[in-house]
Amino acid sequence: MGNNIPYKPDLGVPGWLALLPERQPRSALQEDIEVDYCIVGAGFAGLAAARRIRQLDRNASIAILDATSAGSGPAGRNSGFMIDLPHIVASSSYAGQLESDMRDIKLNRSAIEFVGNMVREFNCPQQVFRIEGKVNAAAGKSGVRANENYARHLERMKEPCEMLNSNEMERMTGTDYYLGGLHTPGVAMIQPAMLNQQIADGLVNQCACKLFENTAVTSIHKQRERWKFVTESGSVVAGRGVLAVNGFVEKFGFYQRRLMHVNLYASMTRELTTDEISSLGGESRWGITPSNPFGSTVRRISDSGGHRIVIRNRFSYDPDLFASEVNLEKAKTDHRRSFEARFPELNRVRMEYCWSGRICASRNHVWALGKVADHLYSACCQNGLGASKGVIAGIVAAEMACDSDDDRLMPDYRQEIQPEKLIPEPFMSIGAGTYLKCREWIAGRDK
Ligand SMILES: Cc1cc2nc3c(=O)[nH]c(=O)nc-3n(C[C@H](O)[C@H](O)[C@H](O)COP(=O)(O)OP(=O)(O)OC[C@H]3O[C@@H](n4cnc5c(N)ncnc54)[C@H](O)[C@@H]3O)c2cc1C
Repeated sequence: MGNNIPYKPDLGVPGWLALLPERQPRSALQEDIEVDYCIVGAGFAGLAAARRIRQLDRNASIAILDATSAGSGPAGRNSGFMIDLPHIVASSSYAGQLESDMRDIKLNRSAIEFVGNMVREFNCPQQVFRIEGKVNAAAGKSGVRANENYARHLERMKEPCEMLNSNEMERMTGTDYYLGGLHTPGVAMIQPAMLNQQIADGLVNQCACKLFENTAVTSIHKQRERWKFVTESGSVVAGRGVLAVNGFVEKFGFYQRRLMHVNLYASMTRELTTDEISSLGGESRWGITPSNPFGSTVRRISDSGGHRIVIRNRFSYDPDLFASEVNLEKAKTDHRRSFEARFPELNRVRMEYCWSGRICASRNHVWALGKVADHLYSACCQNGLGASKGVIAGIVAAEMACDSDDDRLMPDYRQEIQPEKLIPEPFMSIGAGTYLKCREWIAGRDK
């Protein structure tokens, strides 16, 4: 099962990681070991699974294997919005059905609280995780209408939100680009690479988990009642396993032809000078998601790496999971264009970092979550919103792996249906590629 599992790192250096002091990764696995639980993948899902297993089974031995080092995978490459509200990235509006959206909000908030607790327990610096909300920004009239509809939906759910006009948007961001915005207070803004590293190190130092970085699992085998996870220079035999590898779960032999693999792209400017900061104006820290889901996510940050702008847009459908250098170059051009449209006075500011990161989605927006074989569980397919959804998946898979009926953390989780099958190739790639391009084009000024 899952032989010759391929792995290639995401492209480009994520700015979030580059801003951090150098960290010595934990050594790669060099021997054959046995543990009670083996978790493959140290992103949001894998780390949450490790923490939850430790809570449920205090004396268990736990090994976490990741093909790359903490903070360099997608969990350290995202825009850093840990979102509490419904937010289906691939939809035409963020609003869904009232009942399921209310259930989603409870789940997302439990995930945010779970991470907040780890941040406190592991004494992480403040910049790692702050609940300070975000704004859904509208650059065009259709975005304003989308925000109004979304605000009505939130009000029906008694969720606090506040409409901002163009002046208020300018006061916050320093740009007159936006016609309006919708502020919601419950989002946690994270420094993703720092959060990923701090939690990984906390699990090792304070929860006695073994972490092996730069350790790709190349195959898995059933050995009587146990699972053997084979790597290039060692192996882990475990009573229970959790696959927290997002789209790579398909390469392990599960959910094949049911998962859509998409790469996202982001850029971060160099540090702004004092003159540039005063000519820009606005607040020193803010985060905006686009009211059209295919527009640009933009953040201003002002912590240890100085004042910078981070921008994310462009999607590519990559059924083999891997982004191409060509698409990374196209993304750089798009980021530049979107940045200059918003901040023309900063047109001399170059982008210091540009990177890609893979995400995984299903046609019916459900997780690939649950038991995939005896004593083996999947915590994958976060539909683009892995900061909260990954944590939920990790917790649920951990509870399954521990045969726990303690559902206090996620009482609102209901087992979902399977991800729907994809249509055959080449129609799937043509359809998905065209869909993404059209949606990006329709996003217009929001991109
Ligand atoms: C540019 C960008 C912006 C984004 N913005 C946001 C955002 O603002 N908010 C949000 O919620 N989400 C965002 N996302 C999505 C989010 O980052 C992902 O959904 C999330 O990282 C998924 O978490 P995960 O733990 O399931 O998987 P991942 O973070 O992908 O972790 C899986 C891990 O498995 C490891 N792995 C894979 N194969 C193997 C193997 N064979 N052996 C060992 N290890 C393996 C990988 O190295 C990886 O570290 C963004 C993504 C990108 C790229």
